[in-house]
Amino acid sequence: MSDLSLRKIVIVGGGTAGWMAAAPLAQLFAGSQVGRGCTEVVLVESPDIGTIGVGEATLPPIRAYNRSLGIDADDFVRHTQGSFKLGIEFCDWGRVGHRFFHGFGDFGPAIDNRSAWQHWLRLQRTVDNLPPYEDWSVATVMARANRFSPPEGDTPAAANAFSFAYHFDAGLYAAYLRDYALARGARRIEGLIVDVERRPEDGFVAALKLQDGRRIDGDLFIDCSGFRALLIGEAMASPFEDWSALLPCNSALAVPSERVTPLTPYTRSTAQAAGWQWRIPLQHRTGNGHVYCNGFISDEAAADTLLAGLDGKALDTPRQLRFTTGRRKAGWVKNVVAIGLSGGFLEPLESTSIQLIMDGVGRLIQFLPDRRCAPHLAAEFNRLMAQQYETTRDFIALHYKLTQRRDTELWRYCAAMPIPDTLAHQIELFRTTGRVAIYDRDGFAEPSWVSLFFGLGLRPEAYDPLVDRVDEAALVQHFARVRQAIQQTVAGMPDHGDYIARYVQAPRPHPGQGAARPAAGVSHH
Ligand SMILES: Cc1cc2nc3c(=O)[nH]c(=O)nc-3n(C[C@H](O)[C@H](O)[C@H](O)COP(=O)(O)OP(=O)(O)OC[C@H]3O[C@@H](n4cnc5c(N)ncnc54)[C@H](O)[C@@H]3O)c2cc1C
Repeated sequence: MSDLSLRKIVIVGGGTAGWMAAAPLAQLFAGSQVGRGCTEVVLVESPDIGTIGVGEATLPPIRAYNRSLGIDADDFVRHTQGSFKLGIEFCDWGRVGHRFFHGFGDFGPAIDNRSAWQHWLRLQRTVDNLPPYEDWSVATVMARANRFSPPEGDTPAAANAFSFAYHFDAGLYAAYLRDYALARGARRIEGLIVDVERRPEDGFVAALKLQDGRRIDGDLFIDCSGFRALLIGEAMASPFEDWSALLPCNSALAVPSERVTPLTPYTRSTAQAAGWQWRIPLQHRTGNGHVYCNGFISDEAAADTLLAGLDGKALDTPRQLRFTTGRRKAGWVKNVVAIGLSGGFLEPLESTSIQLIMDGVGRLIQFLPDRRCAPHLAAEFNRLMAQQYETTRDFIALHYKLTQRRDTELWRYCAAMPIPDTLAHQIELFRTTGRVAIYDRDGFAEPSWVSLFFGLGLRPEAYDPLVDRVDEAALVQHFARVRQAIQQTVAGMPDHGDYIARYVQAPRPHPGQGAARPAAGVSHH
């Protein structure tokens, strides 16, 4: 450890972002000893302020995050009342009465080195009664049948090639990571931060001042203070780029309801008159929320819509949240790095916030500075985060822009709203050639964009000309074989609820009830 190594990292905030940052940092520095060049990890949180308490649907890379911490996948699901997520079912989005599924994974294996869906596009022009493209998405077929079983082996067969993520209770997830971080030497301080002390010579943050007079100094400060953005916004004054003209929803109401059966292995998003409604199934309850633009509907009417759309008894009264969509122009300024809501927020339509937290934490560790916090490290972090935020923003905005709905003010607004050049290019590229631009290799992959384009009703005018090299009759047979194999494999899988009850049931009423997994190579990893 050099003389300039970080001695103390201070995390501000103990929500999902704070503990998702603390866990890998504690793991990294666990075992280093005070006085022999250690890096201390300290987290400050205030029970008086609390956490946002939502954020319960994730994307597949969360599994890699958990794995990197050495977390046992089954133990994690049990302790967070978790369920499995194969994707998102979109209802009434393209048009009222229409449904499509954004499943995790591809539409079957590539054929002659070209994506299977390109071949499907070709066949669709010549073959009568070709089944819908979703029949080749294993995750979608599983979701429709409410089945779940983790993919088997390292190189899954075509019929078993899918990915998955989790739904979990946000409070339990933060608590799970808190226990993990504390067990590895992270220190938790309870207190209300009332002031931030900056060094006069360079503007770096020197210390936090707590209401009770304590002073918490540090070398690097990670701002996980949520929408308050205590350090990055208030202290460092990093400007906020407002994207609400493109993503007009600015409010949400959240309410839990009683669990119903079947326990569906997917999130549902139902478009409404002035926004959309989520449904996230957990083991002990269903999470619901109505995301809307309060310029197009009153809060009272939004609450009525939410409650009318529940499929189980409400367990509470709806809780109101307000937000502004956008991001900090710079998430890393001097020795302050914003992770989580303090760095930006994109509405939860594709469950991207926790992903942005994970990637922010990963990049911070990749570019971990010494005490000087070299500006080039910050610039590289900011460049990558900007790219990810913008690509994610475009992906979410695509849902609003491509819909054919014009029945209410919100949908008419979306049809007319200007979109960024990056998104306009993406839409035109697909519309005219059937190709997808990947701006960010860490972001949504091609099958996700294709799910949306197809699902929202955009069929391209052309397809990849190289797929014509394949013999059509052989292609038709191949597609039929793969489809049948998928159907057979899925039919042999357990019901999602049964799978959970058998292997990863949360401990209730007596702890420690999970059954041992069968030895047949079944693994979450
Ligand atoms: C309606 C809605 C739905 C969402 N759904 C999803 C989803 O399905 N999937 C997903 O990935 N994301 C979702 N998100 C986003 C997700 O909730 C957040 O990204 C995630 O919870 C991280 O929040 P956070 O930790 O940054 O902030 P918070 O949870 O707000 O935590 C802030 C922390 O800072 C502390 N703090 C603040 N000020 C002070 C102070 N002065 N002194 C001391 N401590 C302080 C608080 O005590 C708290 O511990 C959703 C967000 C919203 C608004």
